[in-house]
Amino acid sequence: MEPFKLIHPNDQHTAIASSGGANVKFIAGGTNLVDLMKLDIEKPAQLVDINSLKLQTIETLSNGNVRIGALVKNSDLAYHPVIMKNYPVLSEALLSGASPQIRNMATVGGNLLQRTRCPYFYDTSFPCNKRVPGSGCSAINGYNRMNAILGTSSQCIATHPSDMCVAMAALGAIVHVEGLRGKREIPFHEFHLLPGQTPQYETTLKHGELITAVEIPAIPYAAKSHYLKVRDRHSYEFALASAAVILNVVNGRIQTARVALGGVGTRPWRAVLAEKVLTGALANEQTYRTAAEAALSEAKPHKDNAFKIELAKRTLVRALKTVGGMS
Ligand SMILES: Cc1cc2nc3c(=O)[nH]c(=O)nc-3n(C[C@H](O)[C@H](O)[C@H](O)COP(=O)(O)OP(=O)(O)OC[C@H]3O[C@@H](n4cnc5c(N)ncnc54)[C@H](O)[C@@H]3O)c2cc1C
Ligand code: SF4
Repeated sequence: MEPFKLIHPNDQHTAIASSGGANVKFIAGGTNLVDLMKLDIEKPAQLVDINSLKLQTIETLSNGNVRIGALVKNSDLAYHPVIMKNYPVLSEALLSGASPQIRNMATVGGNLLQRTRCPYFYDTSFPCNKRVPGSGCSAINGYNRMNAILGTSSQCIATHPSDMCVAMAALGAIVHVEGLRGKREIPFHEFHLLPGQTPQYETTLKHGELITAVEIPAIPYAAKSHYLKVRDRHSYEFALASAAVILNVVNGRIQTARVALGGVGTRPWRAVLAEKVLTGALANEQTYRTAAEAALSEAKPHKDNAFKIELAKRTLVRALKTVGGMS
């Protein structure tokens, strides 16, 4: 690990003012960043410890939306009574991630920015366009069982690893950020980028901008929602495929559908093609299967991960059945 300077600002203004330098990074729970520093993948000259900032609250706003501070721990969010009751999809997604110890440290802001788990990204002896732009992608012709089938490019096929973000994509969250040039609100579908030709750029966050909160819209029917994660072992493992499903079913017909997939996309994958099939259709197995076909219709498999196409379809159908039932 390279030597670095660590500062502990007590207020947001100082934290943001300290973050402008080229090689400066914020640190929250440290569960991803410190690992990356130990492996010499991240080499910040200065870390800005943001844990003293007042970004730890979860509040219901006057319009019914829920505002979650960026420093709320993953465990605290998962077990918050409002989240458990009104947004079970988010609580379940969080509890399916990592281990209790990591969830007690990991924050909402850090979870949004966690890096891929592509093995070649972590092994500095291999070329990786995301780590060293222009060096090549070792996964495309290498071992790619865990890699993505949706949103890939000729430069990178890495999956986005977060479970929480899949639920937030389905919920249509808004990311609040603040930088030296003021505050911005970023709709969730605009926050994470596709790899394209520049996989080193992963989000639309500008350098030095601090994530301050994530806002979840009031969605009354989100109380009927579910996150299903399929993985190689039951705990402490990233998704092979996952589905976040929120359905509003009235008299056996789906009025509104919000669906996102994890473990298969290069970013948290809002399944808009599935949502189109589901909206207005009868809540039954036929509809769910057609929606799953649509969701994966643009999937591009590689040597070791073609199985993910069928796995993701089955995962989505099962999650849809759990939420929508069978009319
Ligand atoms: C063994 C292991 C297993 C895991 N399994 C899973 C899993 O199954 N599912 C899953 O979803 N996740 C999993 N994770 C990932 C874990 O959820 C993330 O490491 C965690 O959410 C990151 O949060 P953090 O607060 O520790 O971030 P940090 O490590 O502190 O920071 C991560 C990045 O975010 C930046 N950052 C942090 N906060 C802010 C902010 N407010 N504004 C701007 N930038 C910020 C940092 O500069 C850094 O670049 C696992 C992690 C480990 C180590
Ligand atoms: S898939 Fe992306 S992260 Fe993995 S080796 Fe290729 S460029 Fe690197």
